[in-house]
Amino acid sequence: MTPTPVFVGIDVGGTTTQVVIVDDRLRMLAHSTTHTPALEGGRAILDAASDLVDDIVRAHDVVIAGIGVGSAGVVDTAAGRVAVVSDSFSGWAGFEARSYLEARYGVASLIANDVNAFLAGEMIAGAGAGHADALGITLGTGVGGALWLGGRLFEGAHGAAGEIGHTPGFGDLPCTCGQRGHLETLASGRSIRSLYETATGARLSAAEISALAADGDADAQRVFREAGEGVARAILIATALLDVDAVVIGGGVSNAWDLLHPAIAAALAAEPPVRGSTPVVLRGTLGDSAVAQGAAALAYAARAAR
Ligand SMILES: [Zn+2]
Repeated sequence: MTPTPVFVGIDVGGTTTQVVIVDDRLRMLAHSTTHTPALEGGRAILDAASDLVDDIVRAHDVVIAGIGVGSAGVVDTAAGRVAVVSDSFSGWAGFEARSYLEARYGVASLIANDVNAFLAGEMIAGAGAGHADALGITLGTGVGGALWLGGRLFEGAHGAAGEIGHTPGFGDLPCTCGQRGHLETLASGRSIRSLYETATGARLSAAEISALAADGDADAQRVFREAGEGVARAILIATALLDVDAVVIGGGVSNAWDLLHPAIAAALAAEPPVRGSTPVVLRGTLGDSAVAQGAAALAYAARAAR
């Protein structure tokens, strides 16, 4: 029997690397995670991922048809490497990731920004399927953004299009990037913990704060309402500029969807876009493996386009 052709998706995060393989209908066949040796350089980072890939391929009767990597940071997709990344990594920006994987596996490979990979996965195989244009927002430790326009990722001049998390106009709190008043100061997991601690003195996780909000804690409800209102403002900006008809939201904070979505919907209803209709706001359906699945979907789409 001929081995099944599969596409590998690799999500390189600051602490965890996740690998998935999907078949040629983008169904996930296997996934696995390991610690990212983020400070040991690009070769060590991709070797750790490759160990997972090799284990999965050995355990299944499959042959790799393409590889996609989703990584934190600004990614130069044309060059096939990360251009700029936070100092939680060492030796990753500038490492020739695509060339390294192509030499190791002998198949076409690509690397994309992780939020772009998230959105591509959701648009190709998840919540956004059927929509031609969308804004993607990830509410994780930080806030990421991406754009899907005309049925494909829109990367912009430097690969940073859609980065709504670090746009001013969302209050005046200091942001992790060194500036002030960014969406990330309201809607990230880190900011939700910090805003709740400022209000109450209690140091809790975003998940614990969302449970308190569900139980009627007024401070917890306010923190999530303000996060949702910030997200709504970001959606209104994207809708005014780009006339998107869908928004896909992922990341750990989106697990508090029952708190976030009503706040987003109410804020959108209070200030509807001038075009007269609000975009549909969707929760991502690919969950924790969305970036890896999206990277695999990008590898699949790249092969289909050749
Ligand atoms: Zn910022």
